[in-house]
Formats: sequence, C-alpha cells, structure tokens
Amino acid sequence: MRSVTVLGATGSIGESAFDLLMRSGGADCWRVMALTGGANIARLAEMARALRAEIAVTAYPELLEDLQSALAGSGIAAAAGPAAIVEAADMPADWTLSAIVGAAGLPPGLRVLERGGTLALANKESLVTAGRLVMGTAARTGARILPVDSEHSAIFQALGLDNLDHVEDVTITASGGAFRDWPLEQLATATVAQASTHPNWAMGQRITIDSASMFNKALEIIETREFFGVEPERIKVLVHPESIIHAFVSHRDGGSIAHMGAPDMRHAIGYALHWPERAELPVAKLDLAALGSLTFRAPDEIRWPALRLAREVMQAGGAAGAVLNAAKEQALDDFIAGRMRFPDMAAAVEATLDALSARDAFTTAPTDLATVLDWDQQARQFAAGWAARNGAR
Ligand code: NAD
Ligand code: MG
Repeated sequence: MRSVTVLGATGSIGESAFDLLMRSGGADCWRVMALTGGANIARLAEMARALRAEIAVTAYPELLEDLQSALAGSGIAAAAGPAAIVEAADMPADWTLSAIVGAAGLPPGLRVLERGGTLALANKESLVTAGRLVMGTAARTGARILPVDSEHSAIFQALGLDNLDHVEDVTITASGGAFRDWPLEQLATATVAQASTHPNWAMGQRITIDSASMFNKALEIIETREFFGVEPERIKVLVHPESIIHAFVSHRDGGSIAHMGAPDMRHAIGYALHWPERAELPVAKLDLAALGSLTFRAPDEIRWPALRLAREVMQAGGAAGAVLNAAKEQALDDFIAGRMRFPDMAAAVEATLDALSARDAFTTAPTDLATVLDWDQQARQFAAGWAARNGAR
C-alpha cells in the first residue's frame, strides 16, 4: 500500500486531492499518514476520519483542543502549529502533496526533500522564494519533485525525455483572469469580490486574485526557470482565454508539443499521484469540436506589470524571488483588507524590490531556510509600510 500525506488538505487543491484519494479506494487502498489544514477544523477532522489518517494537524495552536474533540474516539492523533506541520512532513510517506498557500509551504516541503521523499509540489511559492535551496536539497538527497501547477505539469508531460538543448522556448498560457477585458482606467476601482472570480478555474481566493493581477503567472515564470532550468529569455507567456492548452514546448526544428485538457486541477494532481503510470481520472474529456475555437493574444505588460517584475527578478537573481513573493503576499493581504487598491499591489511590490535591492547580500541566492525567512520578513515589513504610506483608498 502506498503511503501519502497531504499538506494543506482543506484548501482547493487539497480538496481535489482528497476527492482523487476517495475515488481510488480511500483508506482501503492508501495508507494516509498526515493531513494538515488551517482554521476549518470540522472539515479537517472529517477528511482525517474518512481516510483513517494517522494524524491531523492544524496550523493554529489555539485550535488544538477543537481538533482533539472533533477527532475524539477515532484513534487519530491531533497536533497544532507550524512546527507540528514540519514534523508531519517528516513522517516517511511515499508521496507528499504540498498544497499550503504562500511561503508557509516552504518549511514542510523542504523537510520532505531533506528526508529524500517524493514531493508533489502545488506550492509554487517554495520555488519562487527559495529555488536554489529547494532544487539543491532535492539534488543532494535524491528526493523527487513532481510539479502540480497545471502549466508545469504540462511542460513536464510535453518535455518527456527530451533534452532541453533541443528546446527553443517554453510557453505557459494564462487565462487573463477577471480583468482581462476591463478598461485599464477602471482597474483602480476593482473590488475584492470582482478580483476573486475566475473565468475558468475554481481555486482558492488568493491565487484567483493573483490570476487577475497576473502575479500568479509572474510566480509561474520564475517557477519554470527554477524547476526546469530554462533560461529566462526562453520562457514565454501567452494569453489563452479558454485555458485548454496549459503549456507547450517549442523545439528548434519548428515543432511544438502542447499539453491540452479541461481546466480541472485533478488532472495535474492525479498525474503526479500516479506517476509514472497514467490512471483513469474523473476529468472531463476534451471535445474540441464542441469548443469550436481556441484563441490567443499577446500579454500586455501595462495591464499586468507583474510580468515585467518577474523578468526583473530573474535578472536580479539572489534574494529577489523571496522579496517578490513576500511583498506580493503582504500586498495581497492589504488589498483583501481594503488597505490598497488593485493596481497598488504591483506598485508596492516594485517599490519593495527597489528598496531591498540596495541592502547587503541581496544579490546572493539564499542557501539556507533562515536567510530565506529573513528576506521574507524584511520584504513584508517594507511592503506593509508602503501600504500605510501610499495605499489608503
Ligand atoms: P487554499 O487557500 O484554497 O488552501 C490553502 C491550504 O493551506 C488550506 O488547507 C489552508 O488551511 C492551508 N494554509 C493556509 N495558510 C497556512 C499556513 N500559514 N500554514 C499552514 N497551512 C496553511 O489554496 P489553494 O488554491 O488550494 O492553493 C494551494 C497552493 O497550490 C498555492 O501555492 C497555489 O498557488 C497552488 N496552486 C493552486 C491551484 C488551484 O487551482 N487552486 C492551481 C495551481 C497551483
Ligand atoms: Mg498554474
């Protein structure tokens, strides 16, 4: 029996993974070691009971008693707090899904790599924040990382065993998010509710807003660079409103291999879960005749300055990825809380990158967790100050 752990089980990706595990035999076919979540204790306990997990962990120490009573009589252990999540990641599961949102996913994901485990990585923030450390750790211990972001799963599948030397460029697509067709001058009036609706994908609120700003695509450009080792100038973005082609790899002979599929994350999660096999998955089959046409347009860096910032971050290297991600997380908190307008998020991130690039050691890529977390804190602090000075409505 294969053993699995799901970090961030109660989120959008976590729920999809739970669905796949339940449909493929549940507790009778999988040995579930740990499930972790946040404040939704009732759901976490329900999932842990359904999959007969060994332990359930909430990120919040103050919710430990609630979790313990929700699990009473089940024989399932309960724990709480960030350190307990890292301990759960340390359990020897054959396959661990990292589906926590934000840089909080880095420490437990890193622990899986340190023990040489297989990490199915939805948490792109780990690679953006600490690409060198994450990839270096996997190389040192022999751990395997399987991409779960749909574009990166697509590249992984399209690339096959091809040598990157034959690849001219790699293109990831973007739906364009909620404001693809909005007049530019209206973006400053965008509300949180408007930014939280996605035309094609059902996802957590934070990544949905990041899709509207294209910060999600900015993170994914950097993720492509860090995971596959593709040079920045060979990574392209194409706006594709239907979200059917997730990515394609173009070879120097003029041929391109694309990966297509319905916009349903259960494909990428299921692919990583069953890899290297391909299993039957509960994903709608493509009907291109019914779709009729697929459309494409070039991305607009005026509408989506995050795309330009991603290029600048790759050029700067060093701690720039950690700073971009943390400043973006802070700006997103500030937008959601009504402390800044939608376009201010990119302005705050750019100001933070500008300011922190003058600090010592900015150009050195961090190779330990403490240094990464230190840059993360510095960036959050600066970005929060920026919001206080400039962001009020
Ligand atoms: P979500 O907000 O729906 O769920 C996040 C999960 O992480 C929840 O279980 C939550 O309880 C937990 N969590 C939140 N903060 C935490 C903290 N500080 N410590 C520990 N746990 C915490 O997010 P999501 O949309 O499922 O996204 C998860 C990750 O997958 C993100 O990195 C996102 O970029 C990536 N991703 C998501 C999608 C998608 O379709 N949702 C697609 C591609 C990649
Ligand atoms: Mg994606």
